[in-house]
Amino acid sequence: MNYENRLEFAQKMDEQDELKSYRDKFYIPNINGKQTVYFTGNSLGLQPKSTKDYINTELDDWAKWGVEGHFLGTNPWFAYHEMFAEPVSKIVGALPKEVVVMNNLTVNLNLLLISFYRPTDSRYKIICEAKAFPSDQYALEMQVRNAGLNPNDAIIEVAPRENERTIRHEDIIAAINEAGESLACVMIGGVNYFTGQVFDMKAITEAAHKVGSNCGFDLAHGAGNIELKLHDWGVDFACWCSYKYLNSGPGGVSGAFVHEKHCNNTDLPRLAGWWGHDKETRFLMEKGFQPIKSAESWQMSNAPVLTMAAHKASVDIFNEVGMEKLLKKQKTLSGYLEFVVDDISDKHLNKVEGKWLEIITPRNWEERGCQVSVIAHGFGKELFDKLTEEGVITDWREPNAIRMAPVPLYNSYEDIYRFGEILTKAIN
Ligand SMILES: *Cc1c(COP(=O)(O)O)cnc(C)c1O
Repeated sequence: MNYENRLEFAQKMDEQDELKSYRDKFYIPNINGKQTVYFTGNSLGLQPKSTKDYINTELDDWAKWGVEGHFLGTNPWFAYHEMFAEPVSKIVGALPKEVVVMNNLTVNLNLLLISFYRPTDSRYKIICEAKAFPSDQYALEMQVRNAGLNPNDAIIEVAPRENERTIRHEDIIAAINEAGESLACVMIGGVNYFTGQVFDMKAITEAAHKVGSNCGFDLAHGAGNIELKLHDWGVDFACWCSYKYLNSGPGGVSGAFVHEKHCNNTDLPRLAGWWGHDKETRFLMEKGFQPIKSAESWQMSNAPVLTMAAHKASVDIFNEVGMEKLLKKQKTLSGYLEFVVDDISDKHLNKVEGKWLEIITPRNWEERGCQVSVIAHGFGKELFDKLTEEGVITDWREPNAIRMAPVPLYNSYEDIYRFGEILTKAIN
């Protein structure tokens, strides 16, 4: 792709964009009466204009039917979660029975670890990436402590090498091989939240299985962003949130994946509740937990229908578009942002003077999704503040990192061009 940092170029790209009509299906926030350049779909995705209707349908049914809405509502609540199996399985590359929508992300991560991190005297180690998202770090720490183990001994963190920004795959594989028979589980963020690096989940899963370990991924930054083939890759378990790339609203409901090969194993340890119990006998309210032979058996409670309605609004959009088109635009869109950042850094800044913009996200498409993370050398938070004042919504991490994620559903090439203009002013 021959990119140009010109408005006409960006507008031409938008004109040719097969997804251009989708931008109008979302509310784009304004600052000071001006439409923002919204690059934080990796943190909180924007609201589809259809979301209100989806929630109102459930509120109206509740008003109209009361408890009978469980069976007589437009989307009977007793089976509300079942509507997600098919469309969400397509987003993460799974079989419908391998996917369930429930709870929130860290809750699901803990539930799955209870099943898939089963330390024994000899096999008790768990591999994760260094500087994992803090919630994941805390979850792993306590899973290990609760098993009576010492985190310093049981948790192996794979870090970037000295003077490098991202983690080398060969180092993850080497750590797996080195841990060998002492390895109980690998649990890595499929897309690193800070650098945007996408890990080779297929290779990691294969390596973990070779030494007899389970392997799972936190896909908070993966679901709805990158190509996932959880079933084919043989991943044991995974979970993700719906409020980042999946645009389902703050604190929205999470998703979980359990590979088919484990779904039929009713002996697998897990926490239980009535919603995971065999549907035929659930309402007999009798003793003896009989797990459903699907990922649904990890459910404990009945569905939080109002937040799920918001999720449904978004999932229907994903289903209509399909991941293939999103992935295609995601590549050219993030490539354009990369180009514009490089162009501005080259033209307006000077590395020798200690001022430059360093893209730390891998540059090859296989190793990144929407997100482009930039270290603004020689700048501080005032740069971020200037960008925000001018209506660019990004994510700032101290001391000088900007994370941006133009997303294919609602971001445009012109967004990126406008960002470039504002950035140029802000650094000069
Ligand atoms: C966003 C994110 C979370 C957030 O967890 P919640 O339980 O939804 O609050 C956890 N892990 C990762 C990797 C994330 O990116």
